[in-house]
Amino acid sequence: MDQSISKKIALLNQTTLDSLAEVNILKIIERFTETGLKILGANFGFAWWKNPEDDKYKLAYKSPNTPYEPKLPREHGGNFMAEKNKTPIFVEKTIKENYEKKYDVSPYMESYAIIPIIYKNYLYGNLVICFKKEHIFTDEDKELSASLGNTTAQTIIIHRFIEQEHKALKKAEMLKYTWKLLKEEKLKTEFIANATHELRTPLAIIKGNVDLATKGDHKKLKSTKSALRAIDHEIKHLVKIISDLTLMTSSNVWESNSKIVYKKVNLKSLVAHVAVRSKALAYKNKISIIAKNIPNIFIFGDKKYLEKMLFNLVKNSITYNKKNGYTKITVEETKDNFVTINITDNGIGISKKDLPRIFERFYRANKSRSSYARTGLGLAIVKWIAEIHGGEVFVKSIKNKGSVFSVSLPIEKIKEI
Ligand code: ADP
Repeated sequence: MDQSISKKIALLNQTTLDSLAEVNILKIIERFTETGLKILGANFGFAWWKNPEDDKYKLAYKSPNTPYEPKLPREHGGNFMAEKNKTPIFVEKTIKENYEKKYDVSPYMESYAIIPIIYKNYLYGNLVICFKKEHIFTDEDKELSASLGNTTAQTIIIHRFIEQEHKALKKAEMLKYTWKLLKEEKLKTEFIANATHELRTPLAIIKGNVDLATKGDHKKLKSTKSALRAIDHEIKHLVKIISDLTLMTSSNVWESNSKIVYKKVNLKSLVAHVAVRSKALAYKNKISIIAKNIPNIFIFGDKKYLEKMLFNLVKNSITYNKKNGYTKITVEETKDNFVTINITDNGIGISKKDLPRIFERFYRANKSRSSYARTGLGLAIVKWIAEIHGGEVFVKSIKNKGSVFSVSLPIEKIKEI
């Protein structure tokens, strides 16, 4: 192949690649027609495009200097002949009689080529290249014309394939999004159902005790007092549930964590602070808190939430403990730039049956230990806080022996300012 043809074919191939960026098949034809016209040195040209829906021809492109309105391809005309034989037609000189009788060739052109756009036996349309003067088609012209038809067809195929892929991808994304919405909706509905249930119980107890106090025998001061005490207990419980619910919903637990403020947090002082806060409760329950040799590790997070997470775990290890038991807090740097906070107790432990469910919202394994402060939301909050910090929470527990809750969090390397 001589150099100029290979250069021209390379130009056609380049046009193939460029055309793939176009979103419109007609634009692709336009681009190729222009390249074809330029390569063959034609005066004007146009392209017929077969509509895949009804197999009818449409004028897809007309070069700006086309001096007349191309007529639709007719049976036995050049376009149909090219389609039938699946090879380009080259007419070097139009014949007058043919023009008048059969072919209806425009008086503006003396010479033309019809190049079928064919790929794997399917005809996508025709490129018509016209010359105002007689044109001798060289072998090079013929070779380029065949190349032009093929490349155009292949580009259209690739383009369609890409378009289908895009559509499939979009569909998959839509499905994923719908699924996410449905899941969120389900979570919300479950959450509201659970919350309503939890709020209803103390309200029913309050109502019962109010009835008792108002309708009962007022002289029996003792029973009135005990009813009021029960009401007080339930109101405190309601306040606790509402405060936990507010924490979970105000931060939009479902989607974004926009209210969370990430800053440098020193784990050593965080642990010390939580240990001090838990002292009174530990003293009341005769539990000792051990938090020694906590390393000076910084993580990146929201101090308020991290403290809440740690406090919930420490508080549980005190509540679900035995007399004279202990709560031990340790912190260790683990592999891959993570830090693990362990809260160990030698308390009542958790049964194998309850263990997989304790992080569920409102799940309580030891209902007998119920106090107004128990809402069954504590561990759900712990899990959520760990996750929004890019971490996880694990538990190991043996019934009657004790439990270890471990929170693993990523350590962000903080640049010194
Ligand atoms: P609650 O408000 O009931 O404490 P949590 O979500 O904090 O709710 O805990 C869920 C359940 O997990 C508790 O009811 C308790 O049965 C169990 N649990 C949590 N921490 C411990 C622990 N350290 N030892 C034994 N059981 C625990």
